[in-house]
Amino acid sequence: VLEERIHGTVLEINLDALTNNLNFYRSKLKDETKLMVMVKAFAYGSGSFEVANLLQFHRVDYLGVAYADEGVQLRNNGVYLPIMVLNPSEESFESMLEHDLEPEIYNLSLLHSFIQFLDGQKASIHIKLETGMKRLGFERQDLDELIELLKANKNIEVKSIFSHLAGADESRHNDFSKQQAAVFNQGSQRIMSELAIKPLRHLVNSAGTLRFPEFHYDMVRLGIGLYGLETNEEEQDKLLNISTLKTVVSQVRKLEKGETVGYGRNGVAEKPMEIATIAIGYADGYTRAFSKGIGEVWVNGKRAKVIGNVCMDMTMIDVTGMNVKERDEVEIFGPHIPIQELANKTNTIPYEILTNVSQRVKRVYY
Ligand code: PLP
Repeated sequence: VLEERIHGTVLEINLDALTNNLNFYRSKLKDETKLMVMVKAFAYGSGSFEVANLLQFHRVDYLGVAYADEGVQLRNNGVYLPIMVLNPSEESFESMLEHDLEPEIYNLSLLHSFIQFLDGQKASIHIKLETGMKRLGFERQDLDELIELLKANKNIEVKSIFSHLAGADESRHNDFSKQQAAVFNQGSQRIMSELAIKPLRHLVNSAGTLRFPEFHYDMVRLGIGLYGLETNEEEQDKLLNISTLKTVVSQVRKLEKGETVGYGRNGVAEKPMEIATIAIGYADGYTRAFSKGIGEVWVNGKRAKVIGNVCMDMTMIDVTGMNVKERDEVEIFGPHIPIQELANKTNTIPYEILTNVSQRVKRVYY
């Protein structure tokens, strides 16, 4: 792996672990329940094509992306699975049609523009209902007009009706999730019966898949769980970590008591120290919030704390007494430094830690 590095930092992706996680969620589904996997945001940082190819091999039913150009890139790399686009812009309608991408249609104005654009051409859509997330989706009062428009435009095929839970990962929101499901039931039943159609219905994400087997409907939408993280603690140990972010030591030096480290001289040697400069910075996704002892990395079988401020491409760590040498490997997150721990320390969630790993970090698959 070291020889393949373009610069010091690589994100290693374990595809067997990803398959393990996929199989774990599949084991929770009825045979007939379909599976959509979210590969938006570069497959949560793991690499869209590689992940999509694997998912295609394992015959998942659908992929989900945020923007049309993410879907176009998948098509250009030979991905033929159906792809839903969560946030289509009017500007992307043409390219979506050309690349057989299926937009989420979430309000009347988007539907009107799509109908106008189509001008009778056939297309598939997914209808998003607002049930409590207050993000995207048709409101209850929009349904009359939605149904009329779809009756009048039979060139549009409704592939699915769906919504999204706002609090599936926390039991304190269980009642709210159930209310959302009730609103979803009502709205989706009405559309199906008035249009006499039977599209797929789907509501739950990874956390909801485990928490609410009764809300799987026809399909579940898996994201973070596939990538190895799940808020349901009982199940976390069934998932395998898929991503390990590694870098190398570029230089090691000794400090005398009182010397300072890095920008703003924010690291101070309270005693004689040894420090190492490692080849990762905030431009790689190692956020500056890890400065001054907040961040810890794994090197030579031990934890080492960040000293001073994280720089754009480099970070200094305290390796006093650890016998660390140039070119030693450093784990930023992975088996020894859990992603969840980094998220907790910087007041964020694992999704952000994963999707922050920047494009200049080479992905290596094994
Ligand atoms: N469905 C929708 C509409 C989403 O936006 C997302 C992710 O943000 C998911 C499903 C997957 O969620 P998770 O990664 O929590 O499983």
